[in-house]
Amino acid sequence: MPERSPRPSRSRPPAASAARAKAEAIFERLAAARPDPHTELVYRDPFTLLVAVVLSAQATDASVNKATPALFAVAPTPQAMLALGEEGIREKIQTIGLYRSKAKNLAELCRTLVEEYGGRVPREREALEKLPGVGRKTANVVLNEAFGEPTIAVDTHVFRVANRTGLAPGKTPLEVEKKLHEVVPECFRKGAHHWLVLHGRYVCTARKPACPSCPIRDLCDHYARTVATAGGDAPAGKGGKGS
Ligand code: SF4
Repeated sequence: MPERSPRPSRSRPPAASAARAKAEAIFERLAAARPDPHTELVYRDPFTLLVAVVLSAQATDASVNKATPALFAVAPTPQAMLALGEEGIREKIQTIGLYRSKAKNLAELCRTLVEEYGGRVPREREALEKLPGVGRKTANVVLNEAFGEPTIAVDTHVFRVANRTGLAPGKTPLEVEKKLHEVVPECFRKGAHHWLVLHGRYVCTARKPACPSCPIRDLCDHYARTVATAGGDAPAGKGGKGS
């Protein structure tokens, strides 16, 4: 009887296949609950999205959405916001945390957009990340939401959910982002950030995750650990690592 030929070296090791299968199952359920997820920030075009995302650093989307209508009413374009100036911007966003440094960054950001990009938001990651106040997370959100790229921005919610569930454990946002790209099936990548953010915001919250009613609890490492040690559902208030 002829010997079986060895498996092709490109085949996935069992652990990688299991991680992808788990990711697929998680996103099938999250997608079923929210078929068309989007950011909760209110915006009208790539520029206003970029501004809203810059303003949302260490602030809630709700607080940003309260301030931006008045800001965008007078400054809907980089040119108009540049004309409004740092002081004018500061006045409009003073209900948002870190408003002084954000106003300064936005004034400079608008100057760069006007002087170097003809008033348009660039759609290249490198160019976005060079803008004042824009880091990898903000660039990922803009590339995804405004330009339809399958980027996965890792914010505090994504970081927490990825670690708790064991979907993509990592010590830094970049590590988590890279692991998510390895395990999330292509068809779910465009919405992955939104599904994880919304799950972290409304179900897998930092202080009191709603484990008993969580739709992915049977796929979650934290739930398995808690059930194994406590013999029941996760007790309220024990959020696990990554919170
Ligand atoms: S089971 Fe609990 S810890 Fe796991 S994802 Fe759901 S809410 Fe979060």
